[in-house]
Amino acid sequence: GQSRLPGVKTTIFSVMSQLAAEHGALNLSQGFPDFECPEHLRELVSEAMRAGHNQYAPMPGVPLLRQRITEKVLALYGAPVDMDREVTVTCGASEALFVAIQTVVRPGDEVILFDPAYDCYEPAVDLAGGRAIHLPLRAPDYRIDWQQLGDAIGPKTRLIVINTPHNPTGSALSADDLDRLAELVADTPVFLIGDEVYEHIVFDGADHQSLLRREELRQRSFVISSFGKTYHTTGWKIGYCIAPAPMTAEFRKIHQYVTFSIATPMQHAIAHFMADPDFHLGLSAFYQQKRDHFRSALEGSRFALLPCQGTYFQLLDYSAISDRPDLDMARWLVEQAGVAAIPVSVFYADGGGGGTKEDRILRFCFAKSNDTLDRACERLRQL
Ligand code: PMP
Ligand code: GLN
Repeated sequence: GQSRLPGVKTTIFSVMSQLAAEHGALNLSQGFPDFECPEHLRELVSEAMRAGHNQYAPMPGVPLLRQRITEKVLALYGAPVDMDREVTVTCGASEALFVAIQTVVRPGDEVILFDPAYDCYEPAVDLAGGRAIHLPLRAPDYRIDWQQLGDAIGPKTRLIVINTPHNPTGSALSADDLDRLAELVADTPVFLIGDEVYEHIVFDGADHQSLLRREELRQRSFVISSFGKTYHTTGWKIGYCIAPAPMTAEFRKIHQYVTFSIATPMQHAIAHFMADPDFHLGLSAFYQQKRDHFRSALEGSRFALLPCQGTYFQLLDYSAISDRPDLDMARWLVEQAGVAAIPVSVFYADGGGGGTKEDRILRFCFAKSNDTLDRACERLRQL
């Protein structure tokens, strides 16, 4: 039969992690911590299991967890969210993104994505019969060109996907950016997805600019986050989606037949862990230290550091070292230097760093022990 997704290959995250394993390389490619999640959180999972929370959770999520999520977004973003009608716990941000896209995109609809774009958006748009419109973000700042977005919004535009802080570039929206976005969509029926999985990893004293902060944006948004990023538990695959009640009702029609519900003991554990906000409030400082450690350990190397306002990814320009295309360079780096990174061109629909030939950029994950970072940088400084 004919493929539903003829252009899709194995995701770069599987490719690079497997290559790293084959060559025994330090894996700074796929984004996940190489250190443990909090011991207290693991104990809370065991406690939840011992307390008998081992059967299906309610379809929208464990009530106490939905309550904690609403308390958090009220405290941080001033958003008065209804835990019963506006919050759904999902199998990671991935399920939330997929379901949100299926919820609103119909055949022929246009969905605006910003390249480099995280790789799960477009296949979901394609499966829904929509058409992805790609707007480029340009190095070194990778900011949204609001003029260009305004020009791209038309009668077919159904959805815009906003990812802040942004994977893979580490750029982040400002408060002004939120205002510009609000102006542009004001007189349109366009929906928004806020992929905010790195909401608690924002640097240099900046505040995360959630779509939940503006009532007029919140009313048209699916705001999606992931506990995997926040609690060092990427393997648990637990996230959530916040959307206005009518949108959530439609979202849940699909969610209930994709996963129905999400791992029960983990939901209880996270709910109890969230009672103390110190961990997520301290996460930016924790990762800022890692970012700065990684950046200073690269002093004296021939890599050029790009700005990093958030996420746990650092872009490095290797054009002083090689003029290989980034996919070749990523392979070469694993094989010859023993360090794995992610080529950025794969996140562009046109396959090139925004169409500029001189782009020679790799993404490195610094959610790693200082020892791993030091060993990687020692290798990178030799090049
Ligand atoms: N969106 C972005 C921007 C991400 O970086 C990730 C995780 N790498 C996801 C979504 C998916 O999150 P999860 O692992 O919770 O499904
Ligand atoms: N989000 C992670 C990253 O950007 C990877 C997730 C995945 O492997 N699908 O590296």
